[in-house]
Amino acid sequence: MTTVLPEGKRAAVCVSFDTDCWSIFLRMRAVGLVGKGTFGPINFARGEFGARVGIPRIMEVLEKHNVRGTWFTPGVIADTYPELIRELADKGHEIAHHGYFHECPASMTKAQEKASFVKGIKAIERATGGKKPVGYRVPFEIPNASDISTSTIKIMMDLGFKYISQHMGPYDFRVSKVRDGDKYYFDRPPKFGKEVDLLNIPVNELIEDDLAYFLGVSAFYPKLDNPSKVFEVWKMDFDYMYEHEPGGFYTLVLHPECTGRAHRIMLLDQIIEYMAQKPDIWFCTMEELANTWKN
Ligand SMILES: [Zn+2]
Repeated sequence: MTTVLPEGKRAAVCVSFDTDCWSIFLRMRAVGLVGKGTFGPINFARGEFGARVGIPRIMEVLEKHNVRGTWFTPGVIADTYPELIRELADKGHEIAHHGYFHECPASMTKAQEKASFVKGIKAIERATGGKKPVGYRVPFEIPNASDISTSTIKIMMDLGFKYISQHMGPYDFRVSKVRDGDKYYFDRPPKFGKEVDLLNIPVNELIEDDLAYFLGVSAFYPKLDNPSKVFEVWKMDFDYMYEHEPGGFYTLVLHPECTGRAHRIMLLDQIIEYMAQKPDIWFCTMEELANTWKN
């Protein structure tokens, strides 16, 4: 059971985005993770930068390299900027699910979670002209909720999702089937559940922009790291994957409100250019990768 890449391709790369913009900040305010008075026009604008400036800049870089990405988009962002999301979809990018209002499954009841999934699907279908999302990434609510619930996998399968892009398997560069029903204890070994008909396409926070740049000072104030240092880390992970994990898959996890800033856009250009030097790298969306799965 594995992904089977197109003939002549040694490894795959997906450039993925969490199109959070301001939704993550407002969600954190809504659930009390940041205090009253933290959220006003200034912090809203930090997020809106992602939609108005970040996404167009990113699109330009991806078009230069003829790369199409996967955009995990909260429904409220699709409802607010439908023309932008439609443009991405029309250009062949994949629009995937990221909650309706960046809500994390672990902080919801089962009914709330189902409603959030359905509302997010409808918003994406409205914006894209009817393209139903097949992938999902869990929205992160620091610090108290960043996981799926006991209902998430069943809800996703009932709604026809093909994959979740998360830490749901033991691999960093390999797609695997999701295992449902694990039981964990504090005084004995865990009991493992059964594999289900849902793929995990792994993420890796070490090659994610907000760990490098964003979470250093507070939720709202970015830290400043040297882009050449970030490039070196991302490049070495790619080099390792290319040399040691043939048939593997490397994904960047980026955010328009973070990577859209000028020096980081230049870094995105550089890292794609570096990877594209290898003619046997397949740049793909996660949906395309999921479609290569062979049982
Ligand atoms: Zn997010």
